[in-house]
Amino acid sequence: MAIGGTPEARHEDFRNPVAGRLQEVLLNARGAGDRVALLMVHTAAIDRVDAMYGFHAGDVLSASVVKLLQSKVLRRLDTIEVMSRDEFVCVLRPISSAGVAMLAAQRILSLLSVPVEFGERSAMADAAVGIAMFPEHGGDAEELLKNTKHALQSARVHRDHVYLYETRGASLEIDQLQYENRLRLALERNSLSLHFQPQLNPRTGRLKGAEALLRWNDEVLGQVPPNIAVQAAEVAGLIDRVTLWVLTSAVQRCADFGKICPGFSVSVNVSPSNLREADLSLYIDRALRTWGVNGRNLVVEITETAMMADQLKANEALRELKSHGVRLSIDDFGTGYSSMYYLAQLPLDELKIDLMFVKGMLEVSHHAKIVRSLIELAHSLDLEVVAEGVESEPIQMALQHLGCDYLQGYHIGKPVPAGELIKRLQRQETLPLV
Ligand code: C2E
Ligand code: MG
Ligand code: MG
Repeated sequence: MAIGGTPEARHEDFRNPVAGRLQEVLLNARGAGDRVALLMVHTAAIDRVDAMYGFHAGDVLSASVVKLLQSKVLRRLDTIEVMSRDEFVCVLRPISSAGVAMLAAQRILSLLSVPVEFGERSAMADAAVGIAMFPEHGGDAEELLKNTKHALQSARVHRDHVYLYETRGASLEIDQLQYENRLRLALERNSLSLHFQPQLNPRTGRLKGAEALLRWNDEVLGQVPPNIAVQAAEVAGLIDRVTLWVLTSAVQRCADFGKICPGFSVSVNVSPSNLREADLSLYIDRALRTWGVNGRNLVVEITETAMMADQLKANEALRELKSHGVRLSIDDFGTGYSSMYYLAQLPLDELKIDLMFVKGMLEVSHHAKIVRSLIELAHSLDLEVVAEGVESEPIQMALQHLGCDYLQGYHIGKPVPAGELIKRLQRQETLPLV
């Protein structure tokens, strides 16, 4: 069967099921105007493990690598295809630039730079990654897979390397240092920025706070999504500097917002590695004093998964933060597997329901049931609840009906620079209370 060279070729036109599935992704991406990155990961260790311990051991290692990539690299819409026991393709969609795909590849290499556990044993994966981008490096699945493989072959010549497919022939080696340098430069030039997404109190009809979200628009790498920027900062050992910058800027803005709306709160996200940083609560304390902000107007968000990953450390860090009077929030709730017993022990103030459940709650009945029970659970633990992903009026109404305390989402307001939020708060102050 001839394989169509256009993206219009459909699923059934491909003999290889991976190419068929990928073609569907590309068709959808083209329709939405999205870019897609293919990251082909090869792990040379499988061969050695087969020879040393037998094929079953190789299978177990292969499954462990896939699990690691699924849990630590893939975002919500990303997928993974297993090409063979030692070759896997991560399909990242949407992705803003090749630079961001390279950061994800560096994240894979850094994850696989420590021994991977499989059963009772562990082994160095000995990985290499090849990257190709849609639509730049191939118009259909077959071509894109071929070119990703080509880039991978260049990468495998060296150990622990990433190569990006190059249309002019040879693939281009990626210099990880470039990314570290860009981030360092951004910190030095103060070119990172924060956007603020408002949160509504439906009982008063007023905005009660905002979440600070990191923005990194780099001249070379383009707009780097915040979760990728945070990953890059972690790989480069710069996460403490980034968080310190975010905290200081957010607290300073909180003082500005508070002048217009007394008691207005600002939420900041902290990453799991920040919790291991002994000075985190000192930074916060210093920022609060410098800008004269009351601790209860600062909310520190930690994702449920981060809390579960290192419970002891998280517990200790949260208690320390709590002693400075800040409020604590558990972010993306519902996606991890917290035990109720553990949750009840933590000094939390707020629970944020993951947007995945909220966005689809009017279409998917079990999502609505999950949202209802998360609101009940939070209230029974004396926690306030914020719903994220409120994208429409009917969703807002449904959440109000369920007794959700605060609402955040595109329908309430998209993340905007501080100046825009200030204007909105000033307009709000001229309106009567509902
Ligand atoms: P998050 O903390 O769960 O933030 C909410 C994300 O959902 C934001 O994406 C926001 O723009 C998006 N969002 C809000 N309302 C809606 C909606 O109605 N519909 C949809 N589809 N999306 C909505 P953003 O800004 O891309 O941030 C993504 C993640 O990056 C954040 O998730 C957070 O985990 C992380 N992040 C952002 N800033 C920082 C930071 O300063 N430090 C750390 N450690 N992580 C950060
Ligand atoms: Mg958050
Ligand atoms: Mg969230």
